[in-house]
Amino acid sequence: MPISESMVKDIVQEVMAKMQLADAPSGKLGIFKDMNEAIEAAKKAQKVVRNMSLDQREKIISVIRRKTRENAELLARLAVDETGMGNVGHKILKNHLVADKTPGTEDLHTTAWSGDRGLTLIEMGPFGVIGAITPCTNPQETVICNTIGMLAGGNTVVFNPHPQAIKTSIFAINMLNEASLEAGGPANIAVTVENPTLDTSAIMMKHKDIHLIAATGGPGVVTAVLSSGKRGIGAGAGNPPALVDETADIRKAAEDIVNGCTFDNNLPCIAEKEVVAVSPVVDELMHYMVTEQGCYLASPEEQDKLTAVVMKGGKLNRKCVGRDAKTLLGMIGVTVPDNIRCIIFEGPKEHPLITTELMMPILGIVRAKDFDDAVEQAVWLEHGNRHSAHIHSKNVDRITKYAREIDTAILVKNGPSYSALGFGGEGFCTFTIASRTGEGLTSAQSFTKRRRCVMVDSLCIR
Ligand code: NAD
Repeated sequence: MPISESMVKDIVQEVMAKMQLADAPSGKLGIFKDMNEAIEAAKKAQKVVRNMSLDQREKIISVIRRKTRENAELLARLAVDETGMGNVGHKILKNHLVADKTPGTEDLHTTAWSGDRGLTLIEMGPFGVIGAITPCTNPQETVICNTIGMLAGGNTVVFNPHPQAIKTSIFAINMLNEASLEAGGPANIAVTVENPTLDTSAIMMKHKDIHLIAATGGPGVVTAVLSSGKRGIGAGAGNPPALVDETADIRKAAEDIVNGCTFDNNLPCIAEKEVVAVSPVVDELMHYMVTEQGCYLASPEEQDKLTAVVMKGGKLNRKCVGRDAKTLLGMIGVTVPDNIRCIIFEGPKEHPLITTELMMPILGIVRAKDFDDAVEQAVWLEHGNRHSAHIHSKNVDRITKYAREIDTAILVKNGPSYSALGFGGEGFCTFTIASRTGEGLTSAQSFTKRRRCVMVDSLCIR
C-alpha cells in the first residue's frame, strides 16, 4: 500500500506525542514537578507558537474546541467529584459554552493609518509566557478559556491552579497539549506543576520570563498579583445584586433571577447573589419564586440556623460553597423535595447571608422604599467590586441611572446573569472577568500587547 502524506503526518504526530509523554515526569503532557521547569518548557513552546501562522494557531484551537466538547461530561464530573462543588449538568453546559464561544484569532484586530508619510499599523502581539492563577469554582472552564485566548494571541501559559481543583486542571492541561500535538503544534502550550502552592505561585509571579499575570479569584490573589511588580489582569470577586422595580415583568423576573442564581449552584462570580426590590413588588416577586420557581422560604429561625452553618465563626464555610439548596437545608435539619433549588428570605442589606458573596443558592431579598433607595442599597451591596449587577425594569432612564451608579463590568437587563457569558444572550464567552483592572470580559486581545509598525513614505496607495 502506498504511504500517503497524511499517513506520514499521523505517524510523525504519534511519535512526537509519545516522545513528549516520555519526557513528562507525570505521564501527562504539560505537568511538571518544578515551577521553573514548567516555565522553561512553556517558553520553549512559545518560541514555536510565535512563529506559527494565525491559521496554524486556529487549527490547534479548533482541536481544543472539539476535545472540550468530547470531554465535556468527563470534565464536569471530575470537577464536581474533586471540589464537591457545583452541578454536573450545568458544568457540561459551561464546557460547551467555552468550546463554542471563546474567541480565537478572529479577536485580534489591526489598526491602520495611511497617508502622505506612509503606513502605520498597530498590531496585537504576544506577551510570551503568561502566568495564570485559576479558581476552584470554575476550574476547567477557566483553564480552557484562558488557554484558547492566550494561544490565539501567540502566547503559551503557565497555570498555578487552585490546589482543591488540581486533578481537574491537570486533566484539562493534558487535553490542551494533546490537542496541540494533534494539530501539529508543540506540547506545553499550557503547563502547570503537580502540587501548586502559594510558593509555586510566588516563583511564577517573580520569574523573569513572565511579563503578564492573569489572576481569576478572590480579593487576596488579585491584590497579590497587582503587587507583584508585573502587569496584572485582575479578575476578582463580586457580589452581584439584581434590582427589580415596579415596571418589570415580575413573574419573568422571578424566573430569570432564580435561573441565574441557581446555575451551577451559584458558583459563577457573575450570578445573582441577592435581590433588591422596590417595596410594592417584593411580595409578588417572592410569591412567584416560591410557587413557580422551586424556592424555599426560610423562616427567621431557619435563617439563623443557616447563618450559623454557612458563616461558621463569622467566616464563609467552604463546605457550603457550591452546594445545592436541598443539601444546605439538610445541614440545618430541613428535608425538602428534589424540586427545591433555591432558598429565599427577606432581610436587611446588612444580613450576613446577603452582604457576603456566598456562592450557593441562598438569595436574600432586600426591600427598598423606591427606585433611588434600591439603587443606593444595590451599590452598597456590590461593595465597590465593579464586577456584575443585574436589573429587571422596563424604564430606560432608570436602567441608565443604575448603570452609571453601579459602574460594573457587566450589567444584565431583563434576563438571567449567565446571558452575560453569551449563554442566552449576545456576545462571546469568558470565565475571566477583569473587574478590578478594567479589561472587563477578557478575550484573545486582552492577552496581547500593542505594537506600532511604521513604514515611512511608502505603501500608501491612495
Ligand atoms: P480563591 O481566591 O480562594 O482562589 C483563587 C486562586 O488564587 C487559587 O488558585 C488560589 O490558590 C489562589 N490564591 C489565593 N490567594 C492567593 C495569594 N495570596 N497569592 C497567590 N495565589 C493565591 O478563590 P476561589 O474560591 O477559588 O474562587 C472564588 C472567588 O473567585 C470568588 O470570590 C469569585 O467571585 C472569584 N472569581 C472571579 C472571577 C472573575 O472572572 N472575576 C471568576 C471566577 C471566580
